Amino acid sequence: MSVFKYEKDADGIVTITMDMSGPVNAMNEEYRSAMAETVDRLEREQGLTGVVFASAKKVFFAGGDLNELLAAEKGNEAGFMDMLRITKHNLRRLEKLPVPVVAAINGAALGGGFEICLCCNHRIAWDDKSVQLGLPEVSLGLLPGGGGVVRMVNLLGLEKALPYLLEGRKVAPAAALAEGMIHETTATAEELVPRAKAWILANRSDEEAAVQPWDRKGFRVPGGNASSPKLAQLIMGAPAMLRQKTRGLLPAPEKILDCAVEACRLDFDSALEVESRGLTYLAVTPQAKNMISTFFFGMNKVNGGASRPRDIAPYTTKKVGVLGAGMMGQGIAYVSAMAGIEVVLKDISVEAAEKGKAYSVKLLDKRVARGRMTEAQKNEVLKLIKPTATDADLQGCDLIIEAVFENMELKHKITKATEGRLAENGVWGSNTSTLPITQLAEASARQENFIGIHFFSPVDKMPLVEIICGEKTSDETLARAFDYTRQIRKTPIVVNDSMGFFTSRTFGTYLDEGVRLLNEGVHPVQIDSLGKAIGMPVGPLAVYDEVSLELSRKAQEAWKEMGVLDKWGDGSVVRSVIDTMVVEHGRGGRHHGGGFYEYSEDGSKAIWPPLFDLYYKPGTQVSEQDIKDRLLFRPVIESLKCLETQVLRSVADGNIGSIMGIGAPVWTGGYIQFVNTYGAQRFVERCRELEQVYGERFQPPKIALDHAASGELFR
Ligand code: NAD
Repeated sequence: MSVFKYEKDADGIVTITMDMSGPVNAMNEEYRSAMAETVDRLEREQGLTGVVFASAKKVFFAGGDLNELLAAEKGNEAGFMDMLRITKHNLRRLEKLPVPVVAAINGAALGGGFEICLCCNHRIAWDDKSVQLGLPEVSLGLLPGGGGVVRMVNLLGLEKALPYLLEGRKVAPAAALAEGMIHETTATAEELVPRAKAWILANRSDEEAAVQPWDRKGFRVPGGNASSPKLAQLIMGAPAMLRQKTRGLLPAPEKILDCAVEACRLDFDSALEVESRGLTYLAVTPQAKNMISTFFFGMNKVNGGASRPRDIAPYTTKKVGVLGAGMMGQGIAYVSAMAGIEVVLKDISVEAAEKGKAYSVKLLDKRVARGRMTEAQKNEVLKLIKPTATDADLQGCDLIIEAVFENMELKHKITKATEGRLAENGVWGSNTSTLPITQLAEASARQENFIGIHFFSPVDKMPLVEIICGEKTSDETLARAFDYTRQIRKTPIVVNDSMGFFTSRTFGTYLDEGVRLLNEGVHPVQIDSLGKAIGMPVGPLAVYDEVSLELSRKAQEAWKEMGVLDKWGDGSVVRSVIDTMVVEHGRGGRHHGGGFYEYSEDGSKAIWPPLFDLYYKPGTQVSEQDIKDRLLFRPVIESLKCLETQVLRSVADGNIGSIMGIGAPVWTGGYIQFVNTYGAQRFVERCRELEQVYGERFQPPKIALDHAASGELFR
């Protein structure tokens, strides 16, 4: 029995139902042989009227087999290229059958899945929210190598196709229909195959119906080919614009652009060959390995609950109390209500709580205005949020999250005052960003039910939540916090209590190194631009201004007083710069009237001029490569230390947390994955070089030495 079920009906229409042996239909060896057999048989079939491609799975077809892509190795490019040729050859045979072929798309068809659809003469999709169409390969450092680049360009024209290819934009059936990516939609999945057959029968005498647009005589690429003046301009400008976006760190979009332009220049089959070469090149790059490992495999591990204690039944939070309706509290209230959870939003006065709720009104109004929600749906969400100043309203919450001011005493006080309102076995979560969970939990009568639930700002946009277990946090509490985070559709990483947990602690090293470079006399503009050159969204000095020099000074003071920071050690360098900036010059950061930068009303910023006199030493000898490596290696080393000391419970948590929480460069696949493709041995050697010149903080962690010695990857 083939995994592609073959059924011919009385009208001579063959329906192929893809039902591969894995959990999803994917382009692997099994697919290649099933497709080859199917096309062989279709070519031989007598009395054939048409073909319908359907799927027995919920997802129509998932795309390339990422294990196979991950295994592609330098040195075996020829083998990989052959595999692509076979895939493409059979798809080309399919689209050249003398009868119409129709895709009956009952679920997501992304990547390879949509490439199969593109080979069909007619595409009908179920208009359901589970159905997404597109070519997202770029987000994994790849390109659609099953003909996707070439066919999309031939279908839509270069200009319209580029956003789908370069940004991996996915669309719902209605949008795909409007764009011309599909031809019809149905209201139910059951209508798909009958509709496909009806289309075949209605068009059986139309010879053109079985010929792809690009195989018709006199076909021209919509919008013109590469030599048309309008496209020439786009083709000239696009590489520069792209480079500005990727900073030259991501080879995939560059290759995609290249192949897309070739698709407007070459004949169809030659363009397909160029596309195969493009994917072969990309598949073996470290960037693709990093992105596949983290964005697919790591993400599945994290969201799949690898760090959630097993054997604890899933829990659905019904009523959550949010204490503090400030910047964070109002966002937490919004995302919870959006997930259908009842929210009690408490602040020191009803007015303050109402103000917090008004934030949800603002966000929901925007959704309504954009047509993403109805007025009635908006009101349903708003009804779930109860603003209050009364503790009694918290009665029966299965979760309370506090987001009051960052002050240990205040947090202790409110824990004592309100935890009794929790339902039996309810969970207390603190959204602290700097205070140790174990110490915060000391105010609680049930420390096993106390946990850190660290959101990122702005809460409605940031996809990550860092869950922090204190010394006494129980598995049951962790499981509940984890389930709540999934309920509000965020990605939870789980870490153990430590100064700055994982994210802040790791991110802090990037800022710290930036300030050290400044103190050594490096030009501040160079520091920030090299931070961006390694792929960070913002340079370290600019970020320091955003998070506030004033706040970090206060946090450090607080830690010192609490005795959790027992020595300033080497950190004194940074502390002295911050003290000089804040205490001597009143430069507390962007929201304190300026910091390393000064800010104009029009939103522009420039280095605060006295900074040059204070720190810049022309002639300072630190090479660009050293600056870049210092800014990158510090957070990598810190992440490895977190792994070594079990602050991080898994490699995947570290990678996903660094990418989604603190903006680690996507090409690295996260701060731990980076070491896998850089090479552990090479990493250790480079650490040692940096250590010799710049100090102990670059000493390679033991865990890196172990991996270098064993050759084992961080997984
Ligand atoms: P904020 O100052 O905007 O809001 C704090 C709110 O708590 C205020 O509305 C205040 O009136 C209220 N409040 C104070 N005492 C209260 C009490 N006894 N009962 C009820 N409400 C009370 O602060 P924020 O930026 O939202 O931060 C809140 C917490 O979240 C802090 O612990 C902070 O460290 C943490 N955090 C902040 C960020 C961030 O980016 N701002 C990120 C992660 C975590």
